[in-house]
Amino acid sequence: MNRAVFLDRDGVINEILYEVDGNIMAPATLEQLKILPNVREGIKKFKDMGFKVISISNQPGVAFGYLRIEKLKEINDYLKKELGIDAMYECIHHPKYDGECNCRKPKPGLILQAQRDLDIDIEESYMIGDNLSDIQTGINAGVKKTFRIGILREDIMELQHKKQIYPDYTLPDLVQIADKIKEIENK
Ligand SMILES: [Mg+2]
Repeated sequence: MNRAVFLDRDGVINEILYEVDGNIMAPATLEQLKILPNVREGIKKFKDMGFKVISISNQPGVAFGYLRIEKLKEINDYLKKELGIDAMYECIHHPKYDGECNCRKPKPGLILQAQRDLDIDIEESYMIGDNLSDIQTGINAGVKKTFRIGILREDIMELQHKKQIYPDYTLPDLVQIADKIKEIENK
């Protein structure tokens, strides 16, 4: 079986875009795509440790109609090739248009799909995301440890208490997370 590092995409691999009204958007074209610092190096470390690197993301922009499925595929193909990501899975639904699906995070559907496709041992795998819903996804799937990428600010700690969702670690970038995983694996 394979061990995996599951990565959320927007805000972990690439920069988040903001609309004028402050709403969060995913890049809709290759031109809008900007890979975050230390992503390349972090992914290389995961691969050197023998992990499959798998991106799982909600891309409701497809359901909302601002993200074309061909563009999503183009962006993901580019990221896979450029960064050596093994597989990318996305939920393209939104409850408003599609009703309930089984893949929209924090449901574990995308992780379970990857498990079937790539023979993943979930209990020996890790989840990394910038949102608490990513952390909840990892918990729902039963991963070994969860990481929130970012800094631990007071407002985020309050949100964690309110939602009762706690990542095992909060660290600023993928390189530091890779080093922490190495430490955990060597214990
Ligand atoms: Mg995100």
